[in-house]
Amino acid sequence: MQRANELRIVSSAREEMIEFTDEVSKRITAIGVDDGVCVLFVQHTTCGITINENADPDVQSDMLGFLQRLIPQYEPNFKHFEHNSDAHIKSTIVGSSVAIPFDNGKLCLGRWQGIYLCEFDGPRERSVLIKVL
Ligand code: ZN
Repeated sequence: MQRANELRIVSSAREEMIEFTDEVSKRITAIGVDDGVCVLFVQHTTCGITINENADPDVQSDMLGFLQRLIPQYEPNFKHFEHNSDAHIKSTIVGSSVAIPFDNGKLCLGRWQGIYLCEFDGPRERSVLIKVL
């Protein structure tokens, strides 16, 4: 069940970037606060959250591809029994939260910025907590 301060995002691949800017905007409108800061936080250790370009999808595939080359899933020195150490490392690099200011109920994002969940060990259903300050 989805809580009032939570967005649920379902991934469909082991690694993907899923934009959910519109869902955050709608939630800000529903909360009804005009000015403040929206904090988004994932309670997971194998996905991340980031803000980046939403105009050219090659940006997302380049970022995921580069992280895959940098941190392969099956690195011979990894010991973790789940065989997803790469996902844990990528999650730490990307980070688990972002803070976005908003004015007059509108997110203060740049023209080309979108908010992304970065899935590194999907497919799964993920939870993004929203806190408005
Ligand atoms: Zn693990």
